[in-house]
Amino acid sequence: VTQQPSVGRIVHYVSYGTPGGEFKSECRAAIITEVPDAVWQDDAQPVGLAVLNPTGMFFNRDCVYHGGDAEHVDATPGHPAYRGGTWHWPERV
Ligand SMILES: [Zn+2]
Repeated sequence: VTQQPSVGRIVHYVSYGTPGGEFKSECRAAIITEVPDAVWQDDAQPVGLAVLNPTGMFFNRDCVYHGGDAEHVDATPGHPAYRGGTWHWPERV
């Protein structure tokens, strides 16, 4: 059974890293603020998010889902690599 996003659920938002590697792409906590009606037919599952960064908060609409690329070269061993600007369900730890 696939989890469906709904308003108020906590997910991860993936921050953008800088091309030179000064900042890594990282998982941030985010709360779903809106779920467009079309989400049920769309694999991208775009949602609105309130992203909680350690130093501030921002709002984003139409963030698409990305489940991670297991074979991405930059991935931390054992962790899938996620594209910046996407969301996913928090990993089990
Ligand atoms: Zn994550």
